[in-house]
Amino acid sequence: MNKILIAEDEAPIANLIRTVLTDAGYRCVWASDGTQAADLLEKEPFDLALLDIMLPGFNGYELLEYCRELEVPAIFLTAKAEVEDRVKGLHLGAEDYLPKPFALPELLARVETVLRRCGKTERVLRLPPDIEIDTASRLVRRGGAPVALTAKEYDLLLLFVQNKNIALYRDRIYERVWGEEYLGDSRTVDLHIQRMRKKLGLEDRLVAVYKVGYRLEV
Ligand code: CA
Repeated sequence: MNKILIAEDEAPIANLIRTVLTDAGYRCVWASDGTQAADLLEKEPFDLALLDIMLPGFNGYELLEYCRELEVPAIFLTAKAEVEDRVKGLHLGAEDYLPKPFALPELLARVETVLRRCGKTERVLRLPPDIEIDTASRLVRRGGAPVALTAKEYDLLLLFVQNKNIALYRDRIYERVWGEEYLGDSRTVDLHIQRMRKKLGLEDRLVAVYKVGYRLEV
């Protein structure tokens, strides 16, 4: 599980980012000022840092120096969307730059891209005893044999494998995989999950949780 530092002084924004990334299977640690962020960076290993630029204590540019020394890739999150700031951030060695307000799917996509580019993701995820997911080629194998999944079935499988033993709510599942607001039609989620778990022989392990959604038991 990748560990991400969120250096952001505005609690509502930090909470939103943390919720989205936690749902997507990342472990998040929040620092509300630059000094705390620098302490955390020195104390614990992180796979990625999301840095607000205007922060009390050390600012985002200063924190980037720490990140570079510790070889932690960084993405700037900032309201300062002007071109020169963007250029300055990238010039200093940030991996990416996300101007606020940003769409949450875009944040997720950039986080995934940077982690992959920096070799921080495990390319092959395993679901014992016999399922393997190659996240680069999006190929799924069961007992060594390829299993043909649709794009949505693949995304669902990945979501459950990244959240083993956690009960996932239908609305979160829908919003994460379909990228749209859940309007209460549970059939779409149920149908796709039924087909996916049948293809993979997960009927006994990917179980319905009453009034919630589903849980992958490992
Ligand atoms: Ca700020």
